[in-house]
Amino acid sequence: MASSARRIIVLGATGSIGRSTLEAIRHLRALGQHWEVAGLAAGTRADELFAQADELGARHVALASVLGQGTTCTAPPGVTLYRGPDSALELIEAIAQPGDLVLGAMVGVAGLRPTIAAIERGCDIALANKETLVAAGAIVMPLAAAKGVRLLPVDSEHSAIFQCVQAGRCVEEIERLVITASGGPFRTWDAARMNQATVEEALNHPTWKMGPKVTIDSASMMNKALEMIEAFWLFGIPAERIDAIIHPQSIVHSFVEFVDGSVIAQLSPPDMKMPIQYAMTHPNRVPGCSRRLDWSTLSRLDFEAVDEGKFRSIALARRVLAAGGTSGAILNAANEVAVEAFLDRRIRFGRIAELVEEALAAVASVPVRTLAEIDGADRNARAAVRDALAASPETVSSRPVAR
Ligand code: MG
Repeated sequence: MASSARRIIVLGATGSIGRSTLEAIRHLRALGQHWEVAGLAAGTRADELFAQADELGARHVALASVLGQGTTCTAPPGVTLYRGPDSALELIEAIAQPGDLVLGAMVGVAGLRPTIAAIERGCDIALANKETLVAAGAIVMPLAAAKGVRLLPVDSEHSAIFQCVQAGRCVEEIERLVITASGGPFRTWDAARMNQATVEEALNHPTWKMGPKVTIDSASMMNKALEMIEAFWLFGIPAERIDAIIHPQSIVHSFVEFVDGSVIAQLSPPDMKMPIQYAMTHPNRVPGCSRRLDWSTLSRLDFEAVDEGKFRSIALARRVLAAGGTSGAILNAANEVAVEAFLDRRIRFGRIAELVEEALAAVASVPVRTLAEIDGADRNARAAVRDALAASPETVSSRPVAR
């Protein structure tokens, strides 16, 4: 398979998406493609990060945690280590070159600045960090266009839409984007029971194995809310033409309805290596390393409407899409703090969406001109949620949970 050498930098290398990315790199190398791993960034898992650097030949690594989490924290010989909360940004500033592919799989809005720095340096972005576009799509999208870099979706739904829209010639031919959702662990629960769900119940996702933040977001369907906003920025489709639908099997990853009535869907087993590899090889397709769909056992695909009364997040996404400005940053920051409080067993599950809704009401959305407006909205939303948590503390089950 002919291909020239390509450099990749992976942010969030030891998370679920990061590990799948490294698997995709190993696979593509085995196919004869030359992928140079220029740098790797991680949060806390120093030993795993160093082992990855050693195996894949990365000469620069970044570790966000300051304490090292009980590790000796000695980088392998010949490897430069960047430390601290801004280390991923420092890594990008130090080594990113025009034409590099930066795979952004950090969790939360922490991925925003490294992504912007990479775009400014002329890197293509394979984006798994949806919070970056939710909070700052108004900054990131024009910057990417101005720099002439590609923003390649890694999120399975957006990869699906990206593949489906290639069946049309322009945005005007698209009637509707429909993002599928598994419905998470509480799809069949009534709202009252869901609102009292435990951390263990919320972390028990039926189809995807992911990190704690995105798994909780999936249970509340905030993940789908973030993805609707992400789709708005990625594909430039008016908000009222973006929808979500529950599809429990997670086989159809999303679909696009065209104005002539034709519907194009993308199907594959739920495995992130597929969309990651497509982002890396686009516009080409090469043999994949994931399990294939078995059409002999695939007997049914179910779809059902989202109950927006139960899953308030979807209604909040529509509100954010209508309001624009900094409302996406407010929604995202409020959700990050609320999810942390739930994982710390300080609030019940149903309180997450309430806190986000309260923050959207308490913090005014303003037009986005620079990152300063995003930062201000992020700060104010976090403060609003912390104030609400302090004003009405809850008592929930206090069993410890491994984080
Ligand atoms: Mg997704």
